[in-house]
Amino acid sequence: MTTSEQLFEKAKTLIPGGVNSPVRAFRSVGGSPVFIKSAKGPYLYDEDGREYIELINSWGPMILGHAFEPVEKAVRDAIQYSFSFGAPTRKEVEMAELITNMVPSVEKVRMVNSGTEATMAAIRVARGFTGRDKIIKFEGCYHGHADSFLIAAGSGAMTMGIPDSPGVTKATAADTLTAPFNDLAAVEKLLDNNHNQVAAIILEPVVGNMGCVLPEPGFLEGVRSLCDKHDALLIFDEVMTGFRLAKGGAQERFGITPDLTTMGKIIGGGMPVGAYGGRADIMDIVAPAGPVYQAGTLSGNPIAMSAGLAMLHHLNDHPEVYTRLDQIGETLVNGFRASLVKLGLNYTINHIGSMFTLFMTERSVTNFTEAKSCDLPLFGRYFHAMLKRGVYLAPSQFESLFLSVALTDDLTAQIIQANEESLQEALA
Ligand code: PLP
Repeated sequence: MTTSEQLFEKAKTLIPGGVNSPVRAFRSVGGSPVFIKSAKGPYLYDEDGREYIELINSWGPMILGHAFEPVEKAVRDAIQYSFSFGAPTRKEVEMAELITNMVPSVEKVRMVNSGTEATMAAIRVARGFTGRDKIIKFEGCYHGHADSFLIAAGSGAMTMGIPDSPGVTKATAADTLTAPFNDLAAVEKLLDNNHNQVAAIILEPVVGNMGCVLPEPGFLEGVRSLCDKHDALLIFDEVMTGFRLAKGGAQERFGITPDLTTMGKIIGGGMPVGAYGGRADIMDIVAPAGPVYQAGTLSGNPIAMSAGLAMLHHLNDHPEVYTRLDQIGETLVNGFRASLVKLGLNYTINHIGSMFTLFMTERSVTNFTEAKSCDLPLFGRYFHAMLKRGVYLAPSQFESLFLSVALTDDLTAQIIQANEESLQEALA
């Protein structure tokens, strides 16, 4: 037994499923998860001393590579002044100023402790602002684990929400309407059928959570104008895409202005942080400026703010990071495509900037139904073949990969080679 396997056996006796977040348990790819001991730059190291090239980067935050020196230094410098005050600090003001500069649609912002808190608060604000109860989300989009978002599509786009998880009440689910991603007609129908009842439409402008799925041309513009027509707010959940697809996130890359934006991951530099923000007139209904309550003992935590500030300052001051990330993504995807051609395979790759997914299906993937057509056992074999070759992928077909600038040309070449060999092994 490896040390990771021993730790997992013990963990299962103490922690539900042995992990503190379900996907980590490798259930969808089989086998036993590797337990990570440390990480530096583009590498992860496990408890058995094995080295892996990182293609997840803590599900997004480590865009500059692990233990990036300016972030590490900022945390070291901050801890000597204590770890939490529960009182306002200069760093929170600096953080708010930086975020509002980098993401122009965000005129005011509130810090929270996770992406889940950010989306949960954003829909409360949207409901408070509009006086309406319902929200529209898209099948396959993940917005954290708050009750309102754990809603399956049911048998079709027009069905009322059905809870995806025991513990979510039918009453909560009934206020969440779902549509297939990239289907404007379905959204329009929901808005028409629920006239003056929809507070907001929330979406990942580029989806990371059913694998990487891009908005088709006109989709984001169409959702924006439907929101305007029906006086519903548009919420971009940029927890994954924010500060990754561009300095100002997907909204900058696609030129669409949402009313509210949720953020997380990169803004904490790897510490537990989230944020939500948007138009000042909307954000001014948040307590204590207004009546919509939202609070947090550790919100704006000084250590987390220090890490996040170091990260965001670096991204703000070095626009070449985004050019390099796009180059790395391009190189990897071109290499993967060349291998597919060489092996006579027709699988789909969806890609934008430093996010991409190789889908084990020959169908194009523009929504969740199409994503679900993938050969999942094949993905499981491919995942383990990559792991064996020292490449750490997301342990699920329904995730995007997240690249960091720490990937060198040598490493991208190694990944491309490992991918080709792993496909052959998985298909043998
Ligand atoms: N929104 C999106 C788009 C996400 O990808 C995630 C997490 O992956 C969340 C919200 C929830 O964030 P957290 O896991 O920090 O609660």
